[in-house]
Amino acid sequence: MRIVVLVKPVPDTTGAERLGDDLRLDRAASPPIVNPNDEYAVEQALRLVEAHGGEITLLTMAPPAATETMRKALAMGAHGGVLVADEALAGACALATAKVLAAALATLEFDLVLAGAMSADGGGGVVASGIATLRGLPYLSYAGAVEVDPGRVRIHRLHATGYTVLEAPLPAFVVVTQMVGEPRYASLKGIMAARGRQIRTISLADLGLDPAAVGGAAATTRVLAARPPADRGTTRMVRGAPVDLAREIVDLLDDRRFI
Ligand SMILES: Cc1cc2nc3c(=O)[nH]c(=O)nc-3n(C[C@H](O)[C@H](O)[C@H](O)COP(=O)(O)OP(=O)(O)OC[C@H]3O[C@@H](n4cnc5c(N)ncnc54)[C@H](O)[C@@H]3O)c2cc1C
Repeated sequence: MRIVVLVKPVPDTTGAERLGDDLRLDRAASPPIVNPNDEYAVEQALRLVEAHGGEITLLTMAPPAATETMRKALAMGAHGGVLVADEALAGACALATAKVLAAALATLEFDLVLAGAMSADGGGGVVASGIATLRGLPYLSYAGAVEVDPGRVRIHRLHATGYTVLEAPLPAFVVVTQMVGEPRYASLKGIMAARGRQIRTISLADLGLDPAAVGGAAATTRVLAARPPADRGTTRMVRGAPVDLAREIVDLLDDRRFI
């Protein structure tokens, strides 16, 4: 089966994000990584290909240097990638991103598209549903488990109290959660193999898209303000036997006049 996985490069989530004067991410400030949620989508794709055979293509919209980040996902075992990079995309909004990735998807042959639930930087959680809508694909979101039968995909959609089983014909679009299973580490062999795998970089012109319609100039949203989260204060860990812990926590809450 042919699987396309959306992977977004994001600033390393262990470092502090820095914004430029224009309130856009200063991408030079911290090294890019594969969006952590997207690593789960890659892992899910690898498991499906191990079970059913096939190929995995990564799809990214980002500046040209994103090929380096994509290689990290190739090193996990994906087979190739397509990067949409174009100067006009600087400042693109989520709607434009969905339009561009939907157009890129139209140039690929696939049975299944997988994506993460949300990016670690933008965090809009809307790009996947936008692409599925624009491409008219069945959209199965919040998957905790994904199974494929000939011509069909089935997921467990997670709820607070359990899960719902959803099924759709292929081709379809599935958004995974971290419940699908821990992403594997890239092996040395995988890292070596990734160097030889092809990443095709394409522009808006290659997709027949007008930069004036999907670039930063046409952004439908603008960041007006940003501030760091409030200080969380000091954290106190309490350890010990449950009965002692309960007493200590009650004393602590009492001290602070919460109870
Ligand atoms: C102020 C601003 C400036 C921007 N500047 C640029 C820029 O200079 N260059 C540029 O290319 N883009 C730029 N973008 C687009 C941006 O990086 C995102 O791709 C887009 O806004 C997606 O929204 P999100 O992060 O909320 O994704 P979400 O909707 O939270 O993402 C959900 C899932 O969709 C997939 N996905 C999302 N975005 C991408 C992507 N770009 N590629 C592959 N998969 C993806 C991932 O699987 C992700 O887990 C900018 C956006 C904003 C708001």
